[in-house]
Amino acid sequence: MNLFGHDRAGLRDVLDGMGEKPFRADQIMQWIYRHGVADFEAMTNISRPLRARLAEHCTVDAPEVLAHQESTDGTRKWVLRVGETADGQAVETVFIPEGQRGSERYRGTLCISSQVGCAMDCSFCSTGKQGLSRNLTAAEIVAQLWFAAHALGGSGDLHNQRAITNVVFMGMGEPLANYQAVLTAIRIFLDDFGFGLSKRRVTVSTSGLVPFMDRLRSDCDTALAVSLHAPDDALRDELVPINRKYPLDELMAACRRYTTERGHKAHIVYEYVMLDGVNDTDAHARALGRLLGDLPAKVNLIPFNPFPGAPYQRSPAARVDAFAEQLRRRRIITTVRRTRGDDIDAACGQLVGRVTSRQKNRLGGVPVVSA
Ligand code: SAH
Ligand code: SF4
Repeated sequence: MNLFGHDRAGLRDVLDGMGEKPFRADQIMQWIYRHGVADFEAMTNISRPLRARLAEHCTVDAPEVLAHQESTDGTRKWVLRVGETADGQAVETVFIPEGQRGSERYRGTLCISSQVGCAMDCSFCSTGKQGLSRNLTAAEIVAQLWFAAHALGGSGDLHNQRAITNVVFMGMGEPLANYQAVLTAIRIFLDDFGFGLSKRRVTVSTSGLVPFMDRLRSDCDTALAVSLHAPDDALRDELVPINRKYPLDELMAACRRYTTERGHKAHIVYEYVMLDGVNDTDAHARALGRLLGDLPAKVNLIPFNPFPGAPYQRSPAARVDAFAEQLRRRRIITTVRRTRGDDIDAACGQLVGRVTSRQKNRLGGVPVVSA
């Protein structure tokens, strides 16, 4: 049994089943997530006999690294083998640092995957083009953060001067299509005995699975990003096919519920990929402004990241600026995502989780990923 898959309540149940007191779960979680310890023998405030029984029945399974790349801008990407079998299933996890570590302005964002592939089939997304292989387990989702915190943080207290301050579910997969596992993982991310992240520093990004947006609001209330990409149903049906099931009026109503029923002023970030000549005209910007209306909203424009065989081009920078200007005129806070990790194909929608080449590279003797 891999302990990465158990939130505090789950771990207490496991220990209860072993005839142990609930506070043992708190201690074990602190060892795993605060101190980064995977070896039960090193958990010194736990009795020897219990350590031995834990070692017999449980594991803390760090993922195997299939490949690692570091960009000139500090972005790092790992291809991690998930699961216990060598079935070739791999996911990608990307780390994006901004500012100087330790400084107030520092932000270290880990972009994690929730599925191997994705069933949503968005027309501009290379993960979508692979289809869905399978859901990740909660343990496989948590292991990505544990592994990255470990790889970046060195030894010692993972909470102290932490490298990872924010987690976004913007890697491979649609997180709300793997709801239970994602929820368990988020509970571990937020738990003080787990990673101790604050709610507003964990962002779930969704293509718009309306019923699960409502569940998320009542279950754990993290930050939400909605992948909008089009201001009308005809275009959104084409770009984000799940729109045929949950069209814009239903999606925007769910967004309103998410922001207004949370008891505090919360923004949703609306993601909008800029596709040349497809969704990027001033008329689209005005329609988007009308759609968002008085909702507390931020818009994040994402320059399209091309991949082989993609049917779109990236909008020119001047067009992105003009589009942003239209929104700002309507007092909508609009940012343009800087592309990071371009040289290692670590950008949104480019994650494919496949190791296609196993030559050694110069970085650290790990295999090179070629997209
Ligand atoms: N499935 C979720 C989260 C993963 S995708 C979702 O769709 O929201 C994370 C973000 O990357 C989404 O906003 C998605 O629309 C965007 N994206 C996908 N492919 C892209 C591409 N080729 N270029 C730019 N952004 C892309
Ligand atoms: Fe899936 Fe998100 Fe890609 Fe759409 S954009 S196919 S929902 S990963």
